[in-house]
Order: sequence, then C-alpha cells, then structure tokens
Amino acid sequence: MKIGIVGCAGRMGRMLVSEILATDGCELAGGTEAPGSDMIGRDVAELAGADAMGLKVGDDAEALFKASDAVIDFTVPAVTAGHAELAGAHGCALIVGTTGLEDAHMDALTKTAATVAVVQAANMSVGVNVLLGLTEQVAGVLGDDYDIEIVEMHHRHKVDAPSGTALALGTAAAGGRGVDLGAVSQRVRDGHTGPRTAGDIGFATLRGGDVAGDHTVVFAGDGERVELTHKAGDRSVFARGAVRAALWTKDQSPGLYSMRDVLGLA
Ligand code: NAD
Repeated sequence: MKIGIVGCAGRMGRMLVSEILATDGCELAGGTEAPGSDMIGRDVAELAGADAMGLKVGDDAEALFKASDAVIDFTVPAVTAGHAELAGAHGCALIVGTTGLEDAHMDALTKTAATVAVVQAANMSVGVNVLLGLTEQVAGVLGDDYDIEIVEMHHRHKVDAPSGTALALGTAAAGGRGVDLGAVSQRVRDGHTGPRTAGDIGFATLRGGDVAGDHTVVFAGDGERVELTHKAGDRSVFARGAVRAALWTKDQSPGLYSMRDVLGLA
C-alpha cells in the first residue's frame, strides 16, 4: 500500500516515515510540509534518520493524495480539514491523529467519510484504546459515588490542553455513566472554586520535558480510590497504530472509524 505523510518533518511525521519504511506491505508515497517551510526539498527518508531515497519533502498536498492509497495526518486542525477534502476528491483513505479537532473539523471528516474510509483517533496506541473501554466499564460499575478526575502529562511542546486522549477518556467515563461530557466537564479550577460539584468529571493538565503521554483516570470514593493509568514510553506506539490503521483501511467500506474499530475492540 502506498502511504503518504502530511507534516512529514514534524515529531510524529518523522516517526511515521520510519514506521512505514520498517513495515512489510507499505511503500512511502511521499511527504509534505507547510508551504514556506525550510524542510521543503529535504529528503523525506533522511529526515526520519534513514538512508536518502530520492523522495523530496513537497508542499503540494493534492499531488500527494493523488499518489497515495492512504495518507496519514498528524498536523494541525485547520490543515486537517483541507486534507479531508483532498482525500474525498481523490479516493484516498485518511488516517487522522491530529488532536484539538473542533466540530467544524469533525464535520469535514464526516463528509469525507461518505466516500472513503477515514480513521480518526486522539490516541493511536493499543494500550490507550484498551483503557478507553476499561474507563467506560469502571465508570458504569462504580456509579456517581466515585468522583472522576483525569490527569494527563505531555512534553513541553504540546499546544492543546487537555489532551485529545484525556478528553476521549472523559467521553468514555461520561458514556459509562450515561451522561454527556459537555454537561459535566470541569476543565479549569483556579482561586476560590467552592466544593466539588457532584457528578463533575475534572481534568488536570501537566506539561514538561519530553513526556510522550501519561494519562490517569482517578475514581475517588469514600475510603478507596481506583486509578487506571497508561504511560507511553515513546511516540513510536502512536506511529505503529497509525500505520496499522492505514493498512486496515484497504478492505474497508467508506465510513468514519475509530482506533477501536481498527483493533477490533468496538
Ligand atoms: P509537530 O508540530 O512536531 O508536527 C506537526 C507538523 O505539521 C509540523 O512539521 C508542521 O510544519 C506540519 N504542518 C503544518 N501545516 C502543514 C501543512 N499545511 N501541510 C503539511 N504539513 C503541515 O507536532 P507533533 O508532536 O508531531 O503532533 C502533531 C499532532 O498529532 C498534534 O495534534 C498532536 O497532539 C497529535 N498527536 C496525536 C497522537 C495520536 O496518537 N493520535 C499522538 C501524538 C501526537
């Protein structure tokens, strides 16, 4: 399968290129970067630490979608929406790992999913996708007597908060309780906040160093606490999941899929 990488010089982009080069059944179709980037013209494979292979970083996303069976996008939300249009126009599957997607961006993915397979997940690791299922289950079993707090830590470069994974865990916890996360989410506490509101799902964000991604869901009851934790050792787990998702789209009908679909956990 020919796989293209948009944002190929980013932290995840380089990991994705390495993963494609190391995975049987994958062929690197090319990579793009933001127009004006000083990465344009560099060798895509060399940027990822491999031997040069003559594929240069470009800025023509349309040409990349034409040349690819699937494109993997770990960029920024505004750009992802444009990539979704190109995927639909050129019959190319799309794998979206970009986080911080808002309703308009999700609408663009849903529209594209009418014609091609689109996989979108805030976290592509196998472990986190298992954690999502456990969180929903534990939230349902423990019920409202246990306060739910979600704590996440990421590297100092991360630009969105709480992380997409933390929000996905919040959605899973809310789903387990049969409520809508938007109605119970408590994303910021500062100053004299008063006591905790019953039923809230709270978020706390830590940033620093090179942490690839730590998430803990705390269920705090009277006299006991249950904590579910996932820690990513390095970003290769996300790249491996994204490439697995790209290969999985080969036999799929058009639709909007999650990583849980890819892993058979849905
Ligand atoms: P990064 O800033 O290192 O990389 C993003 C890249 O996109 C940059 O190189 C940037 O130049 C490029 N880009 C911007 N506009 C572009 C355009 N028009 N065309 C092509 N490329 C363009 O960030 P990162 O750490 O690699 O993370 C990228 C995204 O992936 C973030 O949203 C992050 O939260 C998310 N992420 C998701 C997962 C997951 O498993 N789903 C895991 C890690 C990171």
